[in-house]
Amino acid sequence: MRRLAAGNWKMNGTAADLAEVAALTAAHPAPGCEMLLCPPATLIDRMARAAHGTALRIGGQDCHARATGAHTGDVSAPMLAEAGASYVILGHSERRADHGETDAQVCAKAEAAWASGLVAVVCVGETEAERDAGQALAVVGRQVEGSVPEGATAENIVIAYEPVWAIGTGRTPTLHEIAEVHRFLRAELVSRFGAAAKGIRLLYGGSVKPSNAAEIFATPEVNGALVGGASLKAADFGAIVAAL
Ligand code: 13P
Repeated sequence: MRRLAAGNWKMNGTAADLAEVAALTAAHPAPGCEMLLCPPATLIDRMARAAHGTALRIGGQDCHARATGAHTGDVSAPMLAEAGASYVILGHSERRADHGETDAQVCAKAEAAWASGLVAVVCVGETEAERDAGQALAVVGRQVEGSVPEGATAENIVIAYEPVWAIGTGRTPTLHEIAEVHRFLRAELVSRFGAAAKGIRLLYGGSVKPSNAAEIFATPEVNGALVGGASLKAADFGAIVAAL
């Protein structure tokens, strides 16, 4: 399986930050591993040009379910693909919270991503209250069931487990808790899509940094990471890529 270190720049980054890309492309993932950066939509085209011919892949942070139309402020999957993206993050908890995105909408977006040849990185994760109530597995199970379309394969989908309470907080689940959720997600995917789903990459996200990346990557059923804050600087993200 090609392990994947993915960076989500969220609403950060202007042209000056493209200098980080030059520094990052000097870092090489281990053979068989991939690195991906998902900048704001305004930077995809320029970042893709800067990364051309290197091991760095570029992705979007969201797409609309439709290809064109009267949807002010939205970006479609064909637009991302044309700009140079090969991946798109979908259903991030910040979009679920800020824009009320539902599992059904995320599912439709994933189908739109596939229609444009993009790999969908579908995010799931429980809130702190849900974990405290013993609902973590039930919540991520429901999200993955509703957000992942029929036809998911190891080539067209990546699942990111991002507990909401671990995002940007410096807190992470224990390695045991991460393994428990990832094993559960793997079992759900295999029961729905068959043995081929053993090849679907499961990323952990939430306060991943150079100092904890290696132990997280060594955790059962963890096939990479979706990194927020620590993906903004090439020095940090390069160290995470090196730990893959
Ligand atoms: P942090 O790595 O900043 O906690 O963010 C994680 C995340 O939300 C990535 O999508």
